[in-house]
Amino acid sequence: MTIQNALTVDVEDYFQVSAFAKSVNQSDWDSYPLRVEKNTRRLMDMFDEAQVKATFFVLGWVADKNRSLIIEIAERGHEVACHGYSHQLIYNQTREVFREETVRSKSLLEDIVQVPVRGYRAASYSITRDSLWALDILAEAGFDYDSSIFPVRHDRYGIVGAKEVPHILQTPQGHSLVEFPLSTARVFNYTLPIAGGGYFRLYPYLLTRAGLKQVNSRQQPFIFYLHPWEIDPDQPRIDASWFSRFRHYNNLEKCESRLQRLMKDFQFDTAWQVLNSLGLAESS
Ligand SMILES: [Zn+2]
Repeated sequence: MTIQNALTVDVEDYFQVSAFAKSVNQSDWDSYPLRVEKNTRRLMDMFDEAQVKATFFVLGWVADKNRSLIIEIAERGHEVACHGYSHQLIYNQTREVFREETVRSKSLLEDIVQVPVRGYRAASYSITRDSLWALDILAEAGFDYDSSIFPVRHDRYGIVGAKEVPHILQTPQGHSLVEFPLSTARVFNYTLPIAGGGYFRLYPYLLTRAGLKQVNSRQQPFIFYLHPWEIDPDQPRIDASWFSRFRHYNNLEKCESRLQRLMKDFQFDTAWQVLNSLGLAESS
């Protein structure tokens, strides 16, 4: 049987990413030309062509500016999920601020699409050992699943040794929450992040494909992520450190054709549907 994998998009714009947080003040976001709408539509057109449904983790800030885009995502049959409101790293926030903006963002999205928003993904996967308390707040806010834990070592995110397959986790306060961790592959003794984004642009396509096939060969679905700005090589350039610019701009021009190949090589559905097929999604 062919395994259905989760295709996900983190809907935010090119100037909101964590790599540029030192160069771009949040108070200046309004002064940047928006490109998220056009790029998200382009992704949806590609998904239509490939007859694929995806999960869109939408930033509340974007939803506030583009309500019609969020309605369109839902009307085209995709899942609308939550990417927080302000794209601040959770471990830099207080619990109170995190709770307030998460609840606000979920209600905003539900008000727009008029269906329950079940899934959550943290800005830059910032649920780490220092911010596991966020899982309690997600469960209390009524989310059914989280997809923020990256079982790798990285300067900004990651929980080394975290479980690598979708599962029900116990939050620190004892709630149950479904976790769909970002996918990794084993290469020799090394855990290789293989789930999309910058890794998808950095690695040769055949390495990504081999890693993802490895996950499927264990009879497990993978979860793949991309950002609308990653298919937009013409986006305005932002002045930042060499390393941040490399991470953000590397191989943008190759991303769209690689995504097309990916959608031919694997089967995809929304994260919620994939969890459903694993028996992890109980309609609540
Ligand atoms: Zn993000």
